[in-house]
Amino acid sequence: MMTQQVYNFGAGPAMLPTEVMQQIQQELLDYRGMGVSVLEISHRCKEFGEIIDSAQQLFRELTGLPANYRILFMHGGARMQFAAVPLNLAARNKTRKALYCETGNFAKLAAQDAAPFANVKTILSGAELGYTQIPQLRPEMIDQDAAYLHLTSNNTLYGTRWNAFPDCGTVPLVADMTSELLSRRLYFSQFGLIFAGLQKNLGPAGMAMVIIREDLLDFATEQVPILLNYKRCASDNSLTNTTNTFAIYAIRLALEWLKRQGGIDAIENRNEQKAAILYRLLDGSDFYHGVADPAHRSTMNVTFRLADTSLEQRFVDEAEKAGLYALAGHRSVGGIRASIYNPMPLEGVEALAQFMTEFARVNG
Ligand SMILES: *Cc1c(COP(=O)(O)O)cnc(C)c1O
Repeated sequence: MMTQQVYNFGAGPAMLPTEVMQQIQQELLDYRGMGVSVLEISHRCKEFGEIIDSAQQLFRELTGLPANYRILFMHGGARMQFAAVPLNLAARNKTRKALYCETGNFAKLAAQDAAPFANVKTILSGAELGYTQIPQLRPEMIDQDAAYLHLTSNNTLYGTRWNAFPDCGTVPLVADMTSELLSRRLYFSQFGLIFAGLQKNLGPAGMAMVIIREDLLDFATEQVPILLNYKRCASDNSLTNTTNTFAIYAIRLALEWLKRQGGIDAIENRNEQKAAILYRLLDGSDFYHGVADPAHRSTMNVTFRLADTSLEQRFVDEAEKAGLYALAGHRSVGGIRASIYNPMPLEGVEALAQFMTEFARVNG
């Protein structure tokens, strides 16, 4: 039976491109003539070797990643990196000082998780402004004797993002890009390390991609668990133990899909176009208002409230009946959040905009 077209606005695990899931479905029982499933093959066989190598190759091709950066696939999603980053980098400077920019809940958690392993210093906080904007980071706030500076490039709950990234001098810039990696053009040489949980913009949950400049690989102490050690992960090509082979297979397909979409510049344009439809509607309405400061708006997570907040539950319920799934804001902040990652088609955003206009007409 044909079901109603549903668009998934969930923040994560989030929607994957339909073409990618169809390809997974087609190949699932027989991976390219092997007679066995990709779920059943060894992480050390040559077919999987081809998968993990081509995923890295495609990422490099799509992003123009410079040769002196390594790509790692690590267990434990994004949050494991909140600990892995200080475990691997704090010893870069004998101060063990780590600078954190608190621009949202994941940024705050990252600082908390790092505290046992580094001298964490929170150098800016958006808390007083309800995290609706990214406070200004001035050069003199960046202690040059710090081991690294951590920021969250896109704040998934609040719908804000860093439009441009700070020049940190000699301090390596570490960015949690979980909810936006591959959604916009980046200049990788600005960063020492980027990590992203796969389940927002890229693929299945439970793993992270880590992009690290080679000179930062060698600062882990002997106490660092082997599976969290960047150098070991790099030298083992992310295969120290059994990796999540399925997730890496899926991200390879997602990268092929992205290439078919025209690559990063094309997807960035489309993401801006999609977000603009919703922000234009919010800006022209008395019924809705956007949460994020217009100067720091995310193209991935569009957050808004209804002027009459008592209507928000009805909004979410009726949207779901209309095939617009998972629009409730994060449980800690409420309101509405439309996550419109790379795979969300323009038609999904148009369907949401149409629903919003109609809901406002009926209830306004
Ligand atoms: C979702 C999210 C995380 C947490 O991801 P997990 O894989 O669940 O650990 C961390 N940072 C950001 C920016 C996120 O959006």
